[in-house]
Order: sequence, then structure tokens, then C-alpha cells
Amino acid sequence: MKTIGDLGDLRGKRVLVRSDLNVPLDGSTITDDGRIRASLPTIQMLTQMGARVVVCAHLGRPKGAPDPAYSLAPVARRLGELLGAPVAFAEDTVGPRAHAAVDALGDGRVVVLENLRFNPGETGKTAADREEFARQLASLADVFVSDGFGVVHREQASVYDVAKLLPHAVGGLVEAEISVLRRLTQEPQRPYAVVLGGAKVSDKLGVIGNLLGTADRLLIGGGMVFTFLKAKGLEVGTSLLEQDQVDAVKGYLDEAADKGVEIVLPVDIVVADAFRADAATTTVPVEQIPADRMGLDIGPRSSELFAEKLADCRTVFWNGPMGAFEMEPYAAGTKALAQSLADVSKAGGLTVVGGGDSAAAVRQLGFSDDRFGHISTGGGASLEYLEGKELPGLTVLEEDDA
Ligand code: AMP
Repeated sequence: MKTIGDLGDLRGKRVLVRSDLNVPLDGSTITDDGRIRASLPTIQMLTQMGARVVVCAHLGRPKGAPDPAYSLAPVARRLGELLGAPVAFAEDTVGPRAHAAVDALGDGRVVVLENLRFNPGETGKTAADREEFARQLASLADVFVSDGFGVVHREQASVYDVAKLLPHAVGGLVEAEISVLRRLTQEPQRPYAVVLGGAKVSDKLGVIGNLLGTADRLLIGGGMVFTFLKAKGLEVGTSLLEQDQVDAVKGYLDEAADKGVEIVLPVDIVVADAFRADAATTTVPVEQIPADRMGLDIGPRSSELFAEKLADCRTVFWNGPMGAFEMEPYAAGTKALAQSLADVSKAGGLTVVGGGDSAAAVRQLGFSDDRFGHISTGGGASLEYLEGKELPGLTVLEEDDA
């Protein structure tokens, strides 16, 4: 796979960079700019080389047509502030404004194109659906740099198809992400624990199967824990439950027992009478979740147990919050877990927080990035990498240039 250094002299060349700038927004206010910051080094490297940098990215899930709520304009502004240099913004992605903005770029200057997903071709299902849009994107540049780690698991026009049309290289962020994840899959230092949380078990079942072959301990929290508790025969009240995954989870519990992988489940749960911050809450043992209550966080005894199970670990990967942390009464489990990881880092272990949402969670809870070994910008991508799946956005970079 070529890196930017292999692309030769880029002075005056138009370089299309696929970045991941999918930041959380409250109206037009960016609530966590972690992904923009993570994208800076590659963009800066290119501007310093004198390239004309054309940044493309998506934001949210607009339906293949322009929607002002998902405009990248605030992101372009923030990127300019962080770069300390003017950043142009094109109000379309591949139309006349994009062409005019790219034509006007000086050497070492940057333009951000409007949201890729305002164009149906970006996420088209087949290569034919994406072809025309990929061609239009490619017409804006001389070379392509793939630096959006959060999307490398997607076969999309700006990630996959465009790489077939232009000389291409992997960007520094994707390189850095892969080199850390490789340390988790190839002879991780042991004990190696994986902590999974978040809302959807079905998204994470594949990775659990694969991790049973590599991890020593699997700690489960968040909304997905109730499918595990159900699989162990416990009642879960009105908590999140994926009934159709219960049998699959039972299978994994058996497999873990056979392989000697320790599965650590919470022992107590914070339950509430509604999915609201002002709901009436209590903490109960996992065996006593009332029929009319929902579990919204792991309890304090569980946090202690998880801390003990992580204390001697040399490697920890964490994806997904332990509770509905966005609401203060249910944030304690996620906060305690972040602290446990920070402690492992301090003791010299490698800690990796996987996923934009988990990363935003730890920052929102007051932890700075340097408390962890690595904060990945890609949740889905890092999970698929750990699952051992082929990531189309990486495979295509292995291919020879067009
Ligand atoms: P995911 O995208 O699968 O990582 O899920 C993240 C979401 O899971 C966050 O928005 C949390 O609020 C939510 N979550 C975590 N624990 C629970 C829970 N016990 N009940 C409902 N939602 C939860």
C-alpha cells in the first residue's frame, strides 16, 4: 500500500483527501471536534508539500439530496480555525461550485466540498450506481488520499470506487489506526481484555465470535448486556433486549466456557421507570430486575468488578458505553470504566477506545485523549477489523494505480 511519501512531488497537484469529519452537531454547533483534529496531520502534511488539498467527507445520514441540517459548512469553518489558515468551502460536492473552488485553489491551500451524501451515487449499492459520482469526484483531482478511517469498511464512491480511478495512497490517520489495531490482533500483550457496551448486540456479535479466539476476558455492559442476562435465564424487565439474538449469545457463552475465555457480566444494574433523566431510579442485583423497570447503567458493584478484571491487563480494547451516559444519572458506569482504562494506561498497558461515540463519551465525561493509548475515530471500522473482515477501503488501496 502506497503512502503519501510514495506519491512523489505534490506541489501544485490537486489531491482529493477522503477524511472522516462526521462530528456530532447540536444545530450548527460542533459538540466534539475529535474527528476534525484527527484529520489535521494528513491535511497539514499535504499543504506543507504545496498540494492543492480538496477535502471530501460526509456528515450524518442525509437521504442522497442536499439538506442544510447536514451541511459541512460549520466543519469547514472549524477546520480553518484548527489549521490557522483559510479554508474554502464549496456549496456543492462535484458541481460548478466545487469546480470553481478547486480551480481557484493556490498551492498549499484547502477546500472542503459539501457533504458527499447529498449525492445518491455516494452510497449506491452497486458499482454501476456509484460509477458516475466517483468519476465526477475523480475529475476534481490528480491523486487520491484515503484518510477516513471511520469509513474504510464501506464500499462507497469516495472510499472505494474513486481509488480505482486515480493514483492513490493511504493517509497518515488510517495508517496509524491500522498499526494500533494490528497490535490487538497479532500477539497482544496479555492479559488482553475487551469491553463491549452500547445498544446493539447484533452489530457486535461477529466481533465476539472472533475475540473468543484472541481475548482472555470479555466484559459486557450497556444495553447489550440484557440479551446476555436473558441468555443466562434472568429476567430483564423492560430493558433493551434483542430476543432474536438470545440463542446466538447462548452459543457464545458455551464457546467461551470451552475456550477458557472469561465472560464478565455486571452484578448490579441501575434501573429506572422511564428512559428519562428525571425518572425514579434504584440499583438492584442483576437477579432482581423488576418486570416494570429498565436497566440504564451498570451499578457500582459492577464497576468495581470491572475495575478488578482490568487492573492486571496489559491490553484493553473498549467499544460502547456502559449505560445511557448522555443522561447524567446513567453516566457513572461509563465514567468508572473510562477511569479503569486510564489506570491501565498509567500502568504501562495499551488501551484503545474504539469508536467516535465512545470517544465522544469519554471526552464528554471529562477525560482527555492522552489518558488512553489510542482513541480510534472509527467504531464500525475498528470492530470489523477485529472481526477479521476485509475492509474494502483498504483492499482497494492495495491495488495498482489506474
Ligand atoms: P452503540 O451505538 O451500539 O455503541 O450504542 C450507543 C448508545 O447506547 C448510547 O447512545 C447509549 O445511550 C446507549 N445505551 C447504553 N446503555 C444503554 C442501556 N442500558 N439502555 C439503553 N440504551 C443504552
